[in-house]
Amino acid sequence: MEGTPSPAAIETRGLTKHYGAIEALTDLTLEVRRGEIFGFLGPNGAGKSTAIRTLLGFLHPTGGEASVLGMDVRDASVEIRRLTGYLPGGIALYDSMTGEQVLDYLVRLQGREPKRRAELCDRLGMRGPDLRRRVRDYSRGMRQKIGIIQALQHDPELAILDEPSEGLDPLVQHSFYAILSDLRASGRTIFFSSHVLSEVERVCDRVAIIR
Ligand code: ADP
Repeated sequence: MEGTPSPAAIETRGLTKHYGAIEALTDLTLEVRRGEIFGFLGPNGAGKSTAIRTLLGFLHPTGGEASVLGMDVRDASVEIRRLTGYLPGGIALYDSMTGEQVLDYLVRLQGREPKRRAELCDRLGMRGPDLRRRVRDYSRGMRQKIGIIQALQHDPELAILDEPSEGLDPLVQHSFYAILSDLRASGRTIFFSSHVLSEVERVCDRVAIIR
């Protein structure tokens, strides 16, 4: 973490987040290498979202250390968020906008070009008419697709995805896994959480298990 960039995409040592007596996350140590699909597996309430939100600087750790793309999460959260695609758990979208407007809005915030949007929409089955409907009329699966597309549309070097396959039907899940594997082939790194063992076994190069 001093000077030369870390070879790891994500590195945590003893990462801890407590809320008073509540131990949301205790002593997480892991390393995600660049160019791999890394699964972060654990039951609900294990601390996966807490860890992820700490990596992106939305939460401040109460102990330990973490770096993302070689930058310390305590002092580089703006840069980390700029370089990373992020799917929050249970994403909240802007209900009065259309799917397309949401994607436009978020890619402008990222200050990037939506290089992969058309491909992602196509592969996840979000057609033009779907994108022109308001988000308030979307099914859960469609919301999740928009969440995935916004996380990946600008082709980030690292994607951090919190339970990305939640709410996707099996066919779409299959397309989603194929997208992840193509991203890996083009050198991107994917870190995603899941509570489904079979999913991480199938998709990931390596897995960390949190209880
Ligand atoms: P996961 O993503 O693995 O389902 P979370 O990271 O959401 O787990 O939550 C881990 C634990 O921390 C849970 O017991 C949860 O209730 C608790 N927790 C999360 N956020 C807070 C908070 N803001 N205040 C108090 N407890 C929290």
